[in-house]
Amino acid sequence: MRKLNYLNIMLITILFYSCGPDEAGCMDENAINYNIDAVEDDGSCEYDLFIGPDVITVDPVKINRKVLVIGIDGFRSDVLTSQITPFMHNMTLARNGYYNTSHIVEDITYSGPNWSSILTGVNQYKHNVLNNEFENDNYSTYPHFFKYIETAQSNIKTASIVNWIPINTYVLNQNIDYSPVQPINDATVLSEAQNILSDSNADVLFLQFDELDVVGHAHGFNSNVNEYANMANLIDSHVENLLEIIDNKRSLGEDWLVLIVSDHGGEGTSHSDGNDPNVNQTIFFAEHSDIEFQASCCYVSNQADIASTVLNFLGISSQEYNFNTDGQSVVL
Ligand SMILES: [Zn+2]
Repeated sequence: MRKLNYLNIMLITILFYSCGPDEAGCMDENAINYNIDAVEDDGSCEYDLFIGPDVITVDPVKINRKVLVIGIDGFRSDVLTSQITPFMHNMTLARNGYYNTSHIVEDITYSGPNWSSILTGVNQYKHNVLNNEFENDNYSTYPHFFKYIETAQSNIKTASIVNWIPINTYVLNQNIDYSPVQPINDATVLSEAQNILSDSNADVLFLQFDELDVVGHAHGFNSNVNEYANMANLIDSHVENLLEIIDNKRSLGEDWLVLIVSDHGGEGTSHSDGNDPNVNQTIFFAEHSDIEFQASCCYVSNQADIASTVLNFLGISSQEYNFNTDGQSVVL
């Protein structure tokens, strides 16, 4: 009897560990080795691979268009009010575009996975950046969107100016014309962007402001926290400033799309709880005076949509990108 009980316990133990609550495996249901019992992703997801070589086609008219992507780290959606962020709030009401304040971020709500998805157009399970250390990334299989732009037409001027330097160090370290890695603050991101735009030194420009996230970690991600609200207000004025430059360029005949996106929201002084809607939802705006967008009411965007939107607007179609992406363009 004693021996039998021991066997039973062993059997129960084995069963518990094989489908119990701690099981690690691939959590992406689109992967070929999706594990329905997995509660923790172990980076083992495998996908059908694109068999190259890639074929890229270019729309000769759309390729002359231009894109500004304004990234704001740690933007919690309820900060978008007429008092705190008057310019962006008014933008959602007055300007033609796609506006989502329930934009879905990655399952892991850190900066690394989310900026990676924004730039590559694939989810965290594919690019495999699961923290802010950028270990074991899969960018060689899932490159950033600038690579497709540079491959399509290498004379397009591309640049990335970021406060959070790992973006340029780890993600945008090749296949882009200008991606400096010297530490700078948000004010310098803005002034560099002003210079680049004024000198027409970028056709596709990516920016990342980081100080809202820093203030959130120090004082709390909340519209009732003065430090956070004041920083959101300051960044709103940066956005206004940039849009003024873009509107001026538009009046001179340049065809610009402006995207504004964040990597995650926040709750308390952190953004690690991926189950909290204040954390796992943020903003994604796409603005252009006269093109058609997905309906803001009804289409729910996610991080992979940004790369798809940029490439679609520029009339660039890559068989490899289209095969790999988890995103959809909000420009119709
Ligand atoms: Zn972040």
